[in-house]
Amino acid sequence: MGSGRVIVIGGGAAGFFGAITCAETAPDTEVTLLEKGPRFLTKVLISGGGRCNVTHACFDARELTNRFPRGEQALISPFKRFQASDTVEWFESRGVKLKVESDGRMFPNTNSSQTIIDCLLREAKTAGVKFFANRGVEKVAKLPEGRFELTLLNGETLNCDRLLLATGGCRSAAAGQLAVSLGHTLEPPVPSLFTFHIQTPWLRQLAGISVESVEASVPGTGLRERGALLVTHWGLSGPVILRLSAWGARELHSRSYEFPLELNWLPHLDADAIVAELQLHRQAQPARLVVNTPIPPLPARLWEQLVLAARVAPDTRWSELPRSAHHQLIQQLTRTEFPVTSKSLNKDEFVTCGGVRLREVNFKTMESRICPRLHFAGELLDVDGITGGFNFQAAWTTGWIAGHAMADDNAADSNVRSR
Ligand SMILES: Cc1cc2nc3c(=O)[nH]c(=O)nc-3n(C[C@H](O)[C@H](O)[C@H](O)COP(=O)(O)OP(=O)(O)OC[C@H]3O[C@@H](n4cnc5c(N)ncnc54)[C@H](O)[C@@H]3O)c2cc1C
Repeated sequence: MGSGRVIVIGGGAAGFFGAITCAETAPDTEVTLLEKGPRFLTKVLISGGGRCNVTHACFDARELTNRFPRGEQALISPFKRFQASDTVEWFESRGVKLKVESDGRMFPNTNSSQTIIDCLLREAKTAGVKFFANRGVEKVAKLPEGRFELTLLNGETLNCDRLLLATGGCRSAAAGQLAVSLGHTLEPPVPSLFTFHIQTPWLRQLAGISVESVEASVPGTGLRERGALLVTHWGLSGPVILRLSAWGARELHSRSYEFPLELNWLPHLDADAIVAELQLHRQAQPARLVVNTPIPPLPARLWEQLVLAARVAPDTRWSELPRSAHHQLIQQLTRTEFPVTSKSLNKDEFVTCGGVRLREVNFKTMESRICPRLHFAGELLDVDGITGGFNFQAAWTTGWIAGHAMADDNAADSNVRSR
């Protein structure tokens, strides 16, 4: 296939995947990757606590898109072409076996992100990609004949026929500046995947406790998620909170991260079932103290605090628990309200909500609808997933599609030139 020159800006997951795919598909194309930092794939290295959560064992394209608060619709067709099972196969066919954890997250068998980095660098080299670190791109100009001229921070200039922008999340507007200079609009960046700060003293006493399944919601917003919860020294974390933060990234930002959070600690039981549980306790162990006899599966320390928060005196026995206290206890168990006062980034994984506006990009080719021959991949786009390997999956998929499109388009261009 084709000739011509492709430049990829950004040496992260999306940039490498795009560069390798393009070079493998069109071996005559000269593919150059430019990274501004001294090292490649730095986020891959720190990802997943150093283990790299490469993807998620969710092998249905539609279902996969449900994990994307931004990009859900746009990713349907890309995932039909390259989804999690393709990622698994891509790495396995290159000697990297992935394993699934009980929650569906997939990691290299080695438990080391270096395995993924070594694989990508090796494959790039084998495919003939020329990759350079310490080559930040300062400016890109569109030349009259449709090519691009890049000016690097070191003053060097380079030309190419097709350009892939894979410069990562736009944590600041400046990070998306190359896309803007080529006519694109950025959806304003705000953080996604963060944990909640809560000052309530009794909650803080429970730091370290985890509950397998709670329902967390933000009253008045429609934000509601179910999953595992972790009590931390500063408030709440765990998958249910991270998911809520991802789906509510814009809404919670607009409230300056000050909002009420409601927790249902027993989401698998309805009100009648909880009443029945309380009756059972009263009948089966009337002489025992309420604070000491939790409803399963609540941890004993959490139960104790919920009982006290419901204003049940610590020396109350089940036989003495007044009907009115039943009501307060049920309220606490199903609708504990905590005031969230701020947020912290989740150290295991964080991403930016916002980036290049999706309707300005053709997701069949990842090509710009505004600037022909310009392609996009990865977190630079206004695409972000919940935690669990979905963000890398989006980077692999969009990189793969862009790489193919650039290879195919270059082939088409060179056919036109040689006619
Ligand atoms: C701590 C942490 C852990 C994470 N863990 C996971 C995980 O386990 N699983 C998961 O799915 N997701 C994880 N994520 C999210 C995931 O890392 C990102 O979504 C993914 O790396 C995005 O890839 P990318 O190639 O688009 O961008 P990046 O990885 O950010 O790469 C972009 C590259 O472009 C370079 N660049 C930018 N501007 C220029 C320029 N002008 N010239 C040249 N180069 C430039 C940057 O230096 C950077 O190296 C994690 C994120 C963090 C921060």
